[in-house]
Amino acid sequence: MTEAPWRATVLTLFPDMFPGPLGLSLAGDALARSVWSLEARDIRDHGRGRHRAVDDTPAGGGAGMVLRADVLAEAIDAASPADDPRPRLLMSPRGRPLDQARVRALAAGPGVLVVCGRFEGVDERVIAGRALEEVSIGDYVLSGGELGALVLMDACVRLLPGVMGKEASGSEESFENGLLEYPHYTRPREWEGREIPQILLSGDHGKIAKWRRAEAEKLTRERRPDLLPKR
Ligand code: SAH
Repeated sequence: MTEAPWRATVLTLFPDMFPGPLGLSLAGDALARSVWSLEARDIRDHGRGRHRAVDDTPAGGGAGMVLRADVLAEAIDAASPADDPRPRLLMSPRGRPLDQARVRALAAGPGVLVVCGRFEGVDERVIAGRALEEVSIGDYVLSGGELGALVLMDACVRLLPGVMGKEASGSEESFENGLLEYPHYTRPREWEGREIPQILLSGDHGKIAKWRRAEAEKLTRERRPDLLPKR
């Protein structure tokens, strides 16, 4: 089989979490068709000593444990040669919040190497030493980077050519044009006394497009004014 064009490698202490939900539905079908590939590698394979230790207590004291720089660097080097063109990401609440523009750029590239933190996080030196780009999936704290990695890969994979049914279905969605998406309706025409807006049944595609645009702008103004262009 030829190598999948978009390659994801995940470094984790819990390789059994992968592909997880990405083995089903759109992403799972695409995985089976080798539109993308996923390799989950166990950081513990590079652990130290009889117990394959991967973490140690924080320098300076404090709660929790920290993933060792030497262990993580070894895992990264084993997974990704120096000339690997893929960006090296570290899931981290301190990172730049992931957005659709970054997702689009990642999906257009050769793939990703994603490092999943655990415990209190990772030794700061490995972030600089292996040029890791910290990526956050939102302003809250997860117990590990794995769910973040799944979120990031799901968002990328659905944009790969041939993954979504209709090529167009990516471009009109929330965030793609700086707006939240307009509301959807389908049959039945009336449900619990609620009707589908008349205009959507009019067959006038120009008017429908205008209405959708206006609805998208209204929703965005109400819910996410931060997305609207600053003036
Ligand atoms: N002590 C850290 C949190 C560690 S949580 C802090 O206060 O910043 C353990 C791991 O979960 C992190 O190393 C990271 O890989 C992952 N993680 C937690 N929250 C995340 C988020 N919002 N986005 C991406 N990864 C996150």
